[in-house]
Amino acid sequence: MEDERYMEEALRQARKAFDLGEVPVGCVIVYKDKIIARGYNCRNHKKTSLGHAEITAIRQACKKIGDWRLEECTMYITLEPCPMCAGAIIQARIPRVVLGAMNPRAGCAGSILNILQEERFNHQVEVTGDILLEECQELLKEFFRRLRKSNKEKKLEAGEAGKGQGRKINFLTRLRQKRYNNHPMFF
Ligand SMILES: [Zn+2]
Repeated sequence: MEDERYMEEALRQARKAFDLGEVPVGCVIVYKDKIIARGYNCRNHKKTSLGHAEITAIRQACKKIGDWRLEECTMYITLEPCPMCAGAIIQARIPRVVLGAMNPRAGCAGSILNILQEERFNHQVEVTGDILLEECQELLKEFFRRLRKSNKEKKLEAGEAGKGQGRKINFLTRLRQKRYNNHPMFF
């Protein structure tokens, strides 16, 4: 299946993010049966809130095609897009998006909002979901499992360190844990 094949490539991008310690989300854009752009989450690395896989890939694809419109392209993403990326997909006029896992906390392809198919906008996207769903979910789960484990270890280390310093690190760790542990998808 074509969709699986391209999602496999998006997963490869997500694994790059994973290896860098970033939330593993990957994306590819296909034009005339060819991958013309790739992206992975690099928010921490590049220190920008715009460092989402989809934004990187859209930027690349526009450059390749020489147009801000990506009207004959299909985008493959391992995780349902956030509001920013769903907005960028609409802006780029991408006609079809293929998704791996859904994101109940931030997804805008049906989970929280359905920006991609909002009829009041001038562009609607055809969405295909659940492609390599288990692989996409498993990669995210594994990432958050490891993050929790490393947070736990840091907490222990901090406990052994001086009292004042320990308190400070514990607080930051707790904050980080809270942010991710509450995510219903990643338990
Ligand atoms: Zn995004």
